[in-house]
Amino acid sequence: MYWEKEIETMDRGSLEKLQMARLGETLARVKNSVHYGKRFAELGLDTAKIRTLADLERLPLTTKEDLREQWPYGFLTCSRDEIIRMHSSSGTTGRATVIFHTANDIAAWTNLLARSMFMAGMRRSDVFQNMMTYGLFTGGLGFHYGAEEIGALVIPAGAGNSKRQIQLMQDFETTAIHIIPSYALHLSTVFTETGIDPRRDTKLKIAFLGAEPHSENMRRKIEDFYGFKGFNSYGLSEMNGPGMAFECPEQRGMHVWEDNYIIEVIDPLTLRPVPEGEEGELIATTLLREGMPILRYRTKDLTRIIPGPCPCGRTHRRIERITGRTDDMMILKGVNIFPIQIEKRLMEIPGVGVNFLIILERENYNDQMTVKVEVQRDFFGGDLQQLEILRRRIVEELKSDILITPRVDLVEQDSLPKSEGKAVRVIDNRKD
Ligand code: ADP
Ligand code: ZN
Repeated sequence: MYWEKEIETMDRGSLEKLQMARLGETLARVKNSVHYGKRFAELGLDTAKIRTLADLERLPLTTKEDLREQWPYGFLTCSRDEIIRMHSSSGTTGRATVIFHTANDIAAWTNLLARSMFMAGMRRSDVFQNMMTYGLFTGGLGFHYGAEEIGALVIPAGAGNSKRQIQLMQDFETTAIHIIPSYALHLSTVFTETGIDPRRDTKLKIAFLGAEPHSENMRRKIEDFYGFKGFNSYGLSEMNGPGMAFECPEQRGMHVWEDNYIIEVIDPLTLRPVPEGEEGELIATTLLREGMPILRYRTKDLTRIIPGPCPCGRTHRRIERITGRTDDMMILKGVNIFPIQIEKRLMEIPGVGVNFLIILERENYNDQMTVKVEVQRDFFGGDLQQLEILRRRIVEELKSDILITPRVDLVEQDSLPKSEGKAVRVIDNRKD
């Protein structure tokens, strides 16, 4: 059942002791980096005074801007000779940041992915097709190494080329995949067009869904189509990448591997911790990283800690599905809106296809939101009246959630731009 039973089910007291011991080692290391050496001196910080988790607040937060400022090597705590791998973020919100790993770092990260995939039910008898971009992006090699560690047969398919993906699945009897959720939906239309039914014609049973925000409704839609169980996988390159937090078979929140990370949830404005169970920005500290440890990193991702134990027996705390990143928040007529709210509603409405795009404009000093929504190909057989009923329903449903009235344009399936990587959901044409 467990990849590492002792660690995964360790009682909270021992787990916190382990965290403090590893934090101590991390603090001793980070002083050697240009960045933290300077920060600690500026703050006059005496790391010996950090003795309990409650003292964590005295440590400085680290931001993406800090990483950019120290580009490329200013966070290293060892010589460059010891570094064996570099990765980078996807650059979704600006210039990408780079992260460096020693051999031990890669081994620890690989273990976390093996632990995560094993938890979701993957075994050495499985055939694992990794449909993520390889290269600098962490989703490719990260999962690849983890799956090999379990001993599964790995097909390093990479992203895109939908027909070939389906062919590989059929020829090699793929049982597990790693896929970006928006791409899984796109691929479903290719399955339908080619007359192949994944439930009938493939052996798929497990999918790791990650790298971008997606709602529970979207997960269900994907699971229903493919007939597999989809597990939410969360991570960011600054914290290695995937393997940081992962769903267990209960599918109720993602366990954060707390032997490797300390997490906090703070109010992004006051920067103070929120009460446990409340939503805020996730902050994470690496505990085992040698080459480039990072303290209290501001992930900009919004989530909450799910209080209470998980029925699976693992003691590592769970976080809720990410509701968005602070950067994604749209402010329209003073209302804060996240793309995922719109996605969640759309995915509930029959007839809505697999892709949508939000366009923001400013007309006569007024913010205007247009949502372009793809409609399922065969749903209406071209009945204009039915389409208008659907359009109005979407306007009403969105309005009841986001409190402003969007324009809704229905468009044909496959007409909106699609991405092999993370989906682009918002185009902001407002100029200040
Ligand atoms: P970038 O920040 O440039 O996109 P990364 O490739 O490191 O670079 O992506 C990490 C980010 O992707 C996370 O901070 C988060 O916003 C998003 N992300 C990753 N996995 C998930 C997930 N399962 N659910 C929601 N968002 C996710
Ligand atoms: Zn669990």
